[in-house]
Amino acid sequence: MAQNSGAVCRQCRRAGQKLFLKGQRCYGLKCTYERRDYAPGQRGRDRGRGRGRRRRSDYGRQLAEKQKMCRIYGVRERQFRRYVHEAERMAGISGENLLRLLERRLDNVVYRAGLATSRAQARQLINHRHLTVNGKPVNIPSYLVNAGEQVAVRENSKALAPIQEAAAATAGGGSLSWLEVDAENKCVNVVGAPVREEIDVEVDEQQVMEFYSR
Ligand code: SF4
Repeated sequence: MAQNSGAVCRQCRRAGQKLFLKGQRCYGLKCTYERRDYAPGQRGRDRGRGRGRRRRSDYGRQLAEKQKMCRIYGVRERQFRRYVHEAERMAGISGENLLRLLERRLDNVVYRAGLATSRAQARQLINHRHLTVNGKPVNIPSYLVNAGEQVAVRENSKALAPIQEAAAATAGGGSLSWLEVDAENKCVNVVGAPVREEIDVEVDEQQVMEFYSR
């Protein structure tokens, strides 16, 4: 999933909606989906446009929601299934638990804090050890951050072009109640847990849970 970067916009066209897979760059680009809101491939146009392109069965809708969530967060099926099981074990609404777990991934936190322009770019920066958690380098994008931890760009990496580009594009990241961003020092303090109302992904998480409860 995460490796399919050459065909990123095709994934939006297949999903029938904008998934903002290029992160901040989606706002500055001529969005491919806005120009071609039908499925990719030779028969794509025949299947209709936008979200109403075809009627789906319950199973089809649930599968589509699950695939959207995997694509947005760049998680492969096997790992995604582990998140689902973990969400089911937690107290509260399992669909919301699932989203909160995905939001706590280090690559997502780096993106949300405005230290990268997209989750894909955040993964790359983490893989190359440009980020630290509580002062120690971490190269695992799926690392789950906890309240009280600090994520920061390494001192030697602050001048890197992608980090500078992200700072210019995001102006210090969004305003999420659980993340305190220090744009000047390129770090973020995690001060709480993700809040469902602040998670702006257009996915029906309950449909995803129903897909796995079959
Ligand atoms: Fe999707 Fe448009 Fe962004 Fe491409 S530019 S990833 S089609 S939202």
